[in-house]
Amino acid sequence: MSVSLASPLSSPVRSPGSARLGRKAVAAGRERPALDNRGVTLPPLAPASLLSRLRPLARRVGLGSLSGCGLGAIDGTLPAIVRRGEVASLVGVKRCRSPWVCPHCAPRLAARRAEVLRPQVASLLRQGYRPWLVTLTLRHNRNSSLDELFGLLGKAWSRLTSGRQWASLKSAGVEYLRGYDLTHGENGWHPHIHAVFLFSSQVADPSAEAQRLLMRWIAAIRSLGGDVLRDGIDAQPCADAEKAARYAAHLSGVYEASAGVKKQCKSLTSRTVFDLAQAAVRGDEVAAGLWSQYAVATKGRRALVCSQGLSLAGEGDASEDAAEIEAQQALEEPAETVAVIYPAALVRVDPYMSELLEAAARSASDCRAALTRILGPPALGVWRPSG
Ligand SMILES: [Zn+2]
Repeated sequence: MSVSLASPLSSPVRSPGSARLGRKAVAAGRERPALDNRGVTLPPLAPASLLSRLRPLARRVGLGSLSGCGLGAIDGTLPAIVRRGEVASLVGVKRCRSPWVCPHCAPRLAARRAEVLRPQVASLLRQGYRPWLVTLTLRHNRNSSLDELFGLLGKAWSRLTSGRQWASLKSAGVEYLRGYDLTHGENGWHPHIHAVFLFSSQVADPSAEAQRLLMRWIAAIRSLGGDVLRDGIDAQPCADAEKAARYAAHLSGVYEASAGVKKQCKSLTSRTVFDLAQAAVRGDEVAAGLWSQYAVATKGRRALVCSQGLSLAGEGDASEDAAEIEAQQALEEPAETVAVIYPAALVRVDPYMSELLEAAARSASDCRAALTRILGPPALGVWRPSG
């Protein structure tokens, strides 16, 4: 029997700095957070509960990997609830690794990517590169299709990073990270690019270069039939490698989802996709429809790309399970195995997973008692499906 000993990549991550347009949209809209029937804001569900309750919706929109995330064992492994310090996690299970939709995988993947990129950005900084955080938006309205908006952003990005002017900048020395961020508000979907451009010491005036990129972005979007509000785009210098890596790697709302913190909605007006997911699983049909649109529009899209001088290789290839990455990370700090669960019992315990993890974080015996209530007593130390 082999059990992966691991703990989650729950290093504290903050959501990336909000874009100017994001704050504006917040001030303008009128959407409401999830309310219970007395009009009181409900606290957000923990990631494991949210994932469990999202599964039917994920199935309905054809996201098989999300609907099965954490329900199958890694070959040759018995799933287990483990604890390291005060953090408990389920390990030894296959994960969907979706950076877009999964309440379990998205925050871990974003944290992992930021972690892989941070030393590379730091190294470029030491070589004299100067990073700029750039927000690239486009004009949208309530009727804009999210798929079309993503399409337009992608094409405009290709134009920005090709052609004569880009070639000349490239010969002077430039690297980049390109991530996305996205909210939904009064004016519909607001997907935008969070890019980090790193200009080498050969680039004489990085500030002018960043401004030129913004101007070229406006031209690219307009040439594709779209439009850009001048104050929706932004470029700022940033000498902090960690902040730069996080800026590109994290969707807003990912941290709130990962920590299950109280701050469900930053406002009544602009919602992250994790806010929408929270509302959707509580019966908000409009939120469910929006989340489904998002799930379909992001399917197969790359959340994060980087230039040749940077690499995401250390995050593990697509076949590698998040739990395996966690296991590798945890080698230095062994975790305590709280309970071993037979793979066929995973579906039975799934709706209770967040309570089980909470119990395990408190004490191993609390978690074992809860498992016994759900599945009956263990056989040879392994909880099996009951009945
Ligand atoms: Zn997942």
